[in-house]
Amino acid sequence: MNVGVLALQGDVPEHFRALRRVVPEQHIVWVRRPEDLVGLDALFLPGGESTTIADLLARTGLWVPMRERIEGGLAVLATCAGLIVLARALEPSPGGRDPPTFALLDIRVRRNDYGRQRESFEGPVRVQALEGPPFPGVFIRAPRILSVGPAARAIAWREEEVVGVRQGSVWGFTFHPELTRDLRLHRAFLRSAASSSS
Ligand code: GLN
Repeated sequence: MNVGVLALQGDVPEHFRALRRVVPEQHIVWVRRPEDLVGLDALFLPGGESTTIADLLARTGLWVPMRERIEGGLAVLATCAGLIVLARALEPSPGGRDPPTFALLDIRVRRNDYGRQRESFEGPVRVQALEGPPFPGVFIRAPRILSVGPAARAIAWREEEVVGVRQGSVWGFTFHPELTRDLRLHRAFLRSAASSSS
């Protein structure tokens, strides 16, 4: 199975390092140009700065073909800025220019919504379908999921708040599983991607 990491900006090396622990390195593709999408079975969208990632997606010509692949059923795991790029709608964020989005994941999101004081924090997350202890959630200038539309469903919660959703083969989280040593989420996602691509 070939697994891509969108490598335009953000915590790409961290994704690569985490992924290398679950996928043989020769099956990991750094996605920077449209041709890198060919033959992918799954794609990771990293965290970073969603305005920059959206600009670079447009400038590299990746915007249209990547959106088409995802709409066509490509398995995607998006974290933080990656989730923002997929969202159906953004509520204006405090004092920021908000990027255009793919509008493929049926959620309404506000960027940087946990405020400056709490730009980064960690806390236990309950993830549906993961066995064992709560997942360690690392939140870095995280967006908040304000509402989940009928096409998507919540699959992760911090206290009562939704912090992860799934819509078909697209999984999105406001926290960063790639920054922990816990790879249960990666494994569950890749298992699901492998079973739907075969
Ligand atoms: N605050 C960033 C944004 O709005 C997201 C932060 C992250 O990906 N860790 O794009």
